[in-house]
Amino acid sequence: MSIIERLKQDLQERETNGLYRRRRIMQTPQGVKVTIADCEFLNFCSNDYLGLANHPEVIKSFQQAASHYGVGSGSAHLINGHSQLHHQLEEALAGFVNRPRALLFSTGYMANLGVISALLGRGDTVFEDRLNHASLIDAGILSRAKLQRYAHNDMQALEAALRSSSINSSIKEKLIVTDGVFSMDGDVAPVTELAGLAQQYDALLMVDDAHGIGVLGKTGAGLLEQENLDATQVPVLMGTLGKALGTFGAFVAGDEVLIESLINNARSYVYTTAMPAAIAAATLTSLQLLQTESWRREKLQANIQQFKKGAAQLALPLMASDTAIQPLLTGDAHQALALSQQLSAAGYLISAIRPPTVPEGTARLRITLSAEHTEQHINSLLEILASLFNRVNEND
Ligand SMILES: *Cc1c(COP(=O)(O)O)cnc(C)c1O
Repeated sequence: MSIIERLKQDLQERETNGLYRRRRIMQTPQGVKVTIADCEFLNFCSNDYLGLANHPEVIKSFQQAASHYGVGSGSAHLINGHSQLHHQLEEALAGFVNRPRALLFSTGYMANLGVISALLGRGDTVFEDRLNHASLIDAGILSRAKLQRYAHNDMQALEAALRSSSINSSIKEKLIVTDGVFSMDGDVAPVTELAGLAQQYDALLMVDDAHGIGVLGKTGAGLLEQENLDATQVPVLMGTLGKALGTFGAFVAGDEVLIESLINNARSYVYTTAMPAAIAAATLTSLQLLQTESWRREKLQANIQQFKKGAAQLALPLMASDTAIQPLLTGDAHQALALSQQLSAAGYLISAIRPPTVPEGTARLRITLSAEHTEQHINSLLEILASLFNRVNEND
């Protein structure tokens, strides 16, 4: 069978199994209301949790920076693509997450590939939560270290794996890697226990806080702020800029040695064009907005509570989550897809998340909430979900 024949067969199988993926073509910016194919939808699938992706101040900074620095950055950071704005943003991000240094990456995917493969090599072991983001799993494979996946948030399983690896003297270094907020589940990692195990078993701990940065913690500095963990407990912190911060890109924060090593060794940092300086300028503004406008986080929390309460009253199959990611479990991929299509026909944009993004038999609707949703938006979502799941609202 030729490669092309094999691809065709794979696509056909995907279609048969309800796993074929298609894109929607957006005609509007991110926001709670978006237009696709000339139809308006109420949007419940964006990661723009704070409503900053289309904020006028963020746009203004982007435009001003573009008129000063142009659009393209021209080269990699180490050649001559590293502008004053990139540098300012790195300093602001380091201060924000209370770590000595921060380093920008062009995407979160690349940050994870770069960090893990720079930190580890053959003979080392990386311990990863089974539900970690694909980029972390791919990074583990790319690093050539031994990849040991432990059951989701199962600290006993992790400890057993750490214990047996510390008996094995041929293992060199150990890295524990976890999502902070799990991207498809919305639950959070037990970071305090993870930090304890890392210390006890002499492993380094890395947290990918893509969905916590901007949203969690008193000042929005993320899950580690919320849980009071400092840089000695979590030496490697990764965050993304394309979600709550509303722009694009990612950063890694940590101490001097970590950051200088990444600048020198992280291949996805060294061998790629720097993000446009105007993106850095826009991010500086959104960072400032999220720090000064704490009402965005408060409104988001209120929306989460409202949704959870309503969904519980309707006995919807909600997964256990206190974050802006509120998945409804269907199990079956066809059913998730059918529900997503029915929601879309009714004007609600919610994506069906299916294997291999999530484990077999755990397909779901991934609902994400934003600070920009109103009480009315959430009530109307609950109403349509109640009708699709055939639930009667006992409070009506
Ligand atoms: C989105 C995400 C990434 C990837 O970030 P991008 O900037 O979109 O490449 C990495 N890790 C987690 C947990 C994510 O949710």
